[in-house]
This record gives sequence, structure tokens and C-alpha cells, in this order.
Amino acid sequence: MKIVLASRNRKKIAELRTLLSESFPTIEILSLDDVGILGEIEEDGQTFEENALIKARVAASSGYIGVGDDSGLTVDALDGAPGIYSARYAARCNYAGDHDDEGNNQALLLNMREVADGDRGGAFVCAIGCVFPDGREWTVRGEARGRILREYHGAGGFGYDPLFFYEPLQKTFAELTPQEKNRVSHRGNAIAAFAETLKGELERK
Ligand code: IMP
Repeated sequence: MKIVLASRNRKKIAELRTLLSESFPTIEILSLDDVGILGEIEEDGQTFEENALIKARVAASSGYIGVGDDSGLTVDALDGAPGIYSARYAARCNYAGDHDDEGNNQALLLNMREVADGDRGGAFVCAIGCVFPDGREWTVRGEARGRILREYHGAGGFGYDPLFFYEPLQKTFAELTPQEKNRVSHRGNAIAAFAETLKGELERK
């Protein structure tokens, strides 16, 4: 069985391969490059699920099962921001510093400086969309809830990890090993849900 993941990120492709090969030993995960699909995909959906499906449809144009994902951080006190704009949050807020992970974190801290300790809850969200060659489309979602700190803790991970405190382990995501993070993260949860739903959908064929 071949799946095309709408990504050119080798790390993401390797991660999905590792996590799915337990349930699907014969699975082959291909990238957009592998199937000759070039160019940027315009992610103009309004939700994580819409963006995941937009990418999955492009991957499915290869003729194989297409998969896309979209993830980000949603903060309760900011009405869900940065949300689908997580990667570009500093630019969206016209933050004066760099528009990179560091700038995104600084913009978040700035926008939350008046938010009380008890109101700093949020969640990492990951949606995965899947499009079958017969036209069937479905999505799954994984979440991990936590609290946004006022300063960085830990040097691992990426993006908002050093500000995201995960109560059950009493650590930020940047203080977890990649294995620990996979077990509890939004992406880990979404991939587990994806494997489960894929199994069911393949049986319905
Ligand atoms: P993507 O959809 O996986 O490319 O993620 C979009 C953006 O969401 C990233 O650029 C990060 O800012 C944020 N994000 C998603 N997942 C994580 C995570 O596991 N840790 C920290 N930031 C994340």
C-alpha cells in the first residue's frame, strides 16, 4: 500500500513511516517529490482540518492515498490564536523582531503579558486529512492540553515547545525526549487516531 504525504520534510515522512509501519508492515510512505508533484500548496482553509484536506487532495492527485497534516497552538485567552497562523504568528502580529520561531514565541508572550496565571491554558492541535483514490475524504484530530509559561524552559523540540507546560509530566514539551513527546503530543495522538481510522476505512473498501 502506498501513501503520499503532502510534505517535503524528510523528518515528517520518516516519523509517519515509523509510527504507521507497526500497524501496516507493508506501507510505503512517499513524499510529493517522490511522485513528481512540484510547487507550493496554498493553505487557505479556515480550520486545521480544512488545511489538512487541502494538502491531502494535492497528494491524492498522484493516484495514491493522499495524506496532509496541519498543526498549531490554540490559546484560550487569545480566542484560539495563534491557531492556523501558528507558523506565521509574529508576522501576523506585526511583531518588530524576527519572524521566526523565536519571534512567534516573543509575540505570544507579549500578547499574553496581562493574562493571569490561572487563565493561560491552551492546546497543541494536529489535524490529519486523508483522501482515497475513490474520493472518500476524512480527517482525525489529536490534541495535547497545557499551560503557556511566562519564560522559556528547556532546549529540545521546536516552535512553541519551551513555553508549553504539560501538567501530567510537570515539564515543558522542550524538556521531553522525542520519544516522551511522541507519546503525549497532539501529533502522536493524531497519528494513532489516523492509524485506527485508516484500518477501518481500508476494511470498508
Ligand atoms: P506544522 O503544521 O506542523 O507545519 O506546524 C505549524 C506551526 O505550529 C509550527 O511552525 C509551530 O509554530 C507550531 N507547532 C506545531 N506543532 C508544534 C509542536 O509540536 N511544538 C511546537 N510548535 C508546534
